[in-house]
Amino acid sequence: MADDGSHDDRGVDRAATRSVVREAVQGSCPACGAAELARYPVLSNGGWFEVVKCQQCLASVRREPWNRLGYVDRDHAARILASRDRVEG
Ligand SMILES: [Zn+2]
Repeated sequence: MADDGSHDDRGVDRAATRSVVREAVQGSCPACGAAELARYPVLSNGGWFEVVKCQQCLASVRREPWNRLGYVDRDHAARILASRDRVEG
């Protein structure tokens, strides 16, 4: 674990992503070059999408319909979101 002072990013990160299950992705950001990509689902107008975003500058690297992967169903995601709401009050 590199000590790069990333604790200062926590608030921004939480507010910007509002997401729950993030998975580290190999590769580097085409915008800023940081090797801090993460993949997670987001809910938008068209339904669930899986996005890959840079955790440094929040550039979107990839975005595609999520349900085709099928490893987590919508009910499961909804339960995660619900429990998160409870935790945050
Ligand atoms: Zn970036």
